[in-house]
Amino acid sequence: MGCVEVIALDEVHARQHWTTLRQRLHERFDRWLDQLETALPEGEPTLGQVSATIWALRQQLTGGVAETIVHHTYHEEQDRSQMPCPTCARLLPARGPVPRGVETMVGLVELERPYFYCQGCRAGSYPLDEVLGVRAGRMQPDVQQAAVDLATEVPYETAARLFGQLSGLAVSSERMHTFTHQVAEGLSVVEVVPSREEIDRRVAQIAAGRLRRPVLVLGIDGAYVPSRPESARGRRPGQARHRARRARWRHEWREAKGFRFYLLDGERIVHVLSWHQVQTEEALGEALQQVKDAGVIPEETVRLCVIGDGAEWIWKHVQALFPQARQGLDYYHCAEYLHKVAKAQYGDSLQAQEWAEATLTRLYLGKVGQVRGGLRRMQPTSEEALKAIDNCWVYLTDHRSRTHYQTLRRGGYPLGSGGMESANKFICHVRLKRSGAWWYEDSSNQMLALRCAKYNGTFVQVFPRDQPRKAGA
Ligand SMILES: [Zn+2]
Repeated sequence: MGCVEVIALDEVHARQHWTTLRQRLHERFDRWLDQLETALPEGEPTLGQVSATIWALRQQLTGGVAETIVHHTYHEEQDRSQMPCPTCARLLPARGPVPRGVETMVGLVELERPYFYCQGCRAGSYPLDEVLGVRAGRMQPDVQQAAVDLATEVPYETAARLFGQLSGLAVSSERMHTFTHQVAEGLSVVEVVPSREEIDRRVAQIAAGRLRRPVLVLGIDGAYVPSRPESARGRRPGQARHRARRARWRHEWREAKGFRFYLLDGERIVHVLSWHQVQTEEALGEALQQVKDAGVIPEETVRLCVIGDGAEWIWKHVQALFPQARQGLDYYHCAEYLHKVAKAQYGDSLQAQEWAEATLTRLYLGKVGQVRGGLRRMQPTSEEALKAIDNCWVYLTDHRSRTHYQTLRRGGYPLGSGGMESANKFICHVRLKRSGAWWYEDSSNQMLALRCAKYNGTFVQVFPRDQPRKAGA
C-alpha cells in the first residue's frame, strides 16, 4: 500500500512541477514577444521580413526556454547554501553566486550558481555544473559536434562562415580547428569501424533470397594528398614581425594509404568500412590486423575478395591476415601495362590498338598463360619496347595467380578496384585537396579519421557521450 501512495505522490509532484514550469515558460515567451513586437517592421510586413525578424531573435527564445527549464528544475541546487566537502566532509558555505554563460545549439544559457571551496583540501566545485553535465569551455558538446560535422566537409574558413549563418552561433575557424583536433586526436581504426551487429545487418540485407554468400571486397590502395613538412611549423603566421624568419618549406604530395571493405549487391556497392591515413605500409598492416582482431569482418558469411595493384606490400598483408580470401589483380592496372607495351612496340598506330585489344580480351578470358607466351615471342622494335615487354612479363608472372579474370567474373567478383578509387576520392580528395591547402601529417590524419567515421556511420560515436551525474549529496 505504502508503495502505491509514494508513486501517487511522485506523480502529483511531477504534475505540479510541470504546471509551474509552464507558467514560467509562458512568462518568458511573453518577454520574447515584447522583443519581437519592437523588432517587427511597422504596418504590413512581407513574409520575408517576418521570417528575418524571427530568425534574428530565435535563439533568445529557444535559449530562454532552455534557461527557464534549467533554473526551474535546479532551483534547489542554485539556492544551496552549504555542502559537505566531498573529500573531508567538512561543511562548506556557498560563495557567489558566480555567473557563467554556456552556448548550446539552441542558444546562450546563463547560469548563476554557488561555488564551494574547501580550504583544507584546496579544492572547489560547482555542484550545479556537475548535475547539469556542463562541460569546460563556453561551447557545449552539441555545438562542437555540429561544427566538426561541417568542418569535415568544407574548409575551416567556409565552415565557420556557414556555421555562423545557419546556427546563429559565432564559431571562428580557429575554434573549428581546435574542436576537430580535440575529437580526432588519437582516434584509432577500431573506434571508427561499425559494430559487428551493424555489419551483419548489411550482409544479411544483401544475402536475402540469394543462394551464394555475398562478395565482400577488400580494396587496398594509396591516394596522394597535399602535405607540408613538420619543418614548416616554426613561428605562427600572426607574428608579422618575425614572418621573414619563418622556416622555408616546400609542399609535397604524400600517400594516404588506405583500405576499404565493401559489399557487392549486383552493380551496387554497399560501404562497410574505410580507414585511410598518411602512414607507412607497416602501420596500414597493423590497422588491418586490428580490424581483424576486433572480429568485425564476418568471414564465414561472405566470400572475401581482395583487389589490389602490383604493390608487394599489399599482398604481404593480405596473405598474412586473410589467407583464404580470393585475390585479384586490378584488371585496369593490368591494362595500363599492356597499353605501355603496345605504344612502345607499335607507336600510335592501328596495330598498337589492335594488339592491346586482342591481348586484353585474352586476359579477360583468363588466358594469362597465352598472354605471357605472346610477350615472350615478341621481337622488340626498340630498347624502350624491350623494357616495356620485360616489365609487363615480370608483372604478369609475379601475379599470375591473381589474373583468373574468367573465374572471378563467374564468381561475381569485381575485376577492378573502382570501389577503392571512389573511396580515395570521397574520403581523401574531397576534403584534403583544396587550392592552397597543405596539411601537416597529424592534421590530415585527424581529418581522414573523422571522414572515415562519417562514411562508416560511426561519426556520432566518436564524440564523448553525455553522462548525467547524480546530484552532490
Ligand atoms: Zn575538504
